[in-house]
Amino acid sequence: MSFDYAPAPESRTIVDLRSSYGLFIDGEFVDGTGPTFKSVSPANEEVLAEVSEASAADVDRAVRAARRAYSRVWAQMPGAERAKYLFRIARIVQERSRELAVLESLDNGKPIRESRDVDVPLVAAHFFYYAGWADKLAYALPDHREPRPLGVAGQVIPWNFPLLMLAWKIAPALACGNTVVLKPAETTPLTALLFAEICQQAELPAGVVNIVTGAGETGRALVSHPDVDKVAFTGSTEVGKQIAREVAGTSKSVTLELGGKAANIVFEDAPLDQAVEGIVNGIFFNQGHVCCAGSRLLVQESVYGEVLARLKRRMAMLRVGDPLDKNTDIGAINSAEQLDKIRRLSEVGEAEGAARWSPPCDLPERGYWFAPTIFTGVTQAHRIAREEIFGPVLSILTFRTPAEAVEKANNTPYGLSAGVWTDKGSRILWMANRLRAGVVWANTFNRFDPTSPFGGYKESGYGREGGRHGLAAYLSSGQAVRSARATRRPRRSGAADA
Ligand code: NAD
Repeated sequence: MSFDYAPAPESRTIVDLRSSYGLFIDGEFVDGTGPTFKSVSPANEEVLAEVSEASAADVDRAVRAARRAYSRVWAQMPGAERAKYLFRIARIVQERSRELAVLESLDNGKPIRESRDVDVPLVAAHFFYYAGWADKLAYALPDHREPRPLGVAGQVIPWNFPLLMLAWKIAPALACGNTVVLKPAETTPLTALLFAEICQQAELPAGVVNIVTGAGETGRALVSHPDVDKVAFTGSTEVGKQIAREVAGTSKSVTLELGGKAANIVFEDAPLDQAVEGIVNGIFFNQGHVCCAGSRLLVQESVYGEVLARLKRRMAMLRVGDPLDKNTDIGAINSAEQLDKIRRLSEVGEAEGAARWSPPCDLPERGYWFAPTIFTGVTQAHRIAREEIFGPVLSILTFRTPAEAVEKANNTPYGLSAGVWTDKGSRILWMANRLRAGVVWANTFNRFDPTSPFGGYKESGYGREGGRHGLAAYLSSGQAVRSARATRRPRRSGAADA
């Protein structure tokens, strides 16, 4: 049974939005030399603010500021002192958590329930966690007895978890003594700019964190800048490959966190109600804009009918609508471009013969919206079973034996995550040993913790973020895969540690 709720919108008055923003370079907001662009609310297409598109000259200015701060201040500072700044940032994030959550939901379209309860608490947790490591780096990793920072990190992030991806990048980099220039995604720049204000409030030395806004060209200028020592990229596999080509032959360290097409595998002995919650969380959390989303459901044939019936019943209760409403389960699709991609691939699913179903659901007239959708009758050859849709669309397949489940789960160019639902611990271990995925969740899905490493196999990228492994990617004898010159030195691969 589903309940009707009166609207319960979170007030947006807590956010003090400026009409326009410059770039954050050397501890100050400065005008960019390039044009400006608009950041809109995907829920109603309202223009939220004008933002600068950083030119190559602006990026150069930011990298110089980061280099100065690196050599003169940050790399010289004892770890215990660096830690104090990270703790301070973490505490300010907590103090300003409501403001950050509201702005994240406004700019990104995700439900306030998620930005408030998942994204922002995890951001603070990442800064707290890495603050704790800053003065213990020599004890963090067995082969880093004399850990040294890499230098200036150029970091490029996507739009699906704007603040959280920023925290995954900035917290370990700073803890290890690096300085950063970070470029947020073009559709979600606003919380990164608010984070810049938090850096000012924390009195972080000028130039340690620099934020340059813009689109692909700005990202390219940053990644290819000759004075950047470390490139950390999260985004699509296509752009990840371009970046890998761009830095090949240089001495830059690289970590790539790319796309995914995870299998969420439900065995007949699984607690089915719990599994259905996990399926819903796996694909509809954050509108399915999740690199590790459980976008391929593999159900054991004997329970297929029952799982499908329960899933449809559960989906009929999902509330789609205003991201700022505290009862909303599914918010807006982040951009018109992404909505178009989701629509196109869903049409391909139908054209290729899969059966499409969505619960009855009224979508707002303005803004970018897509109803939660499942496809049955999907085969492994279907494009919707192979390509990352990055939206609230689930492809359902079946299997008979554990071996068949493993084979189907691994039949993908990606390898970021997987989920296993079963009552048997031995089966979880058996499956986890065979699944080619960086993260395997057992009887849960989409759980994140700063102490736990995260990253991919195959076309999902290389290197790890989170946990002690995440430190290695920012230290001079790090485990991150290096291009050309640096790969001559023997090192352990990040993927092997997952
Ligand atoms: P995208 O690759 O289009 O853009 C990501 C970022 O790269 C943006 O900031 C963009 O401006 C920038 N960019 C674009 N072209 C560039 C270039 N040539 N050089 C440098 N920077 C460039 O991806 P997206 O659509 O923003 O994000 C969605 C993708 O991100 C999905 O594939 C998703 O799976 C992936 N993702 C992966 C993880 C992970 O941890 N593995 C996490 C979140 C998202």
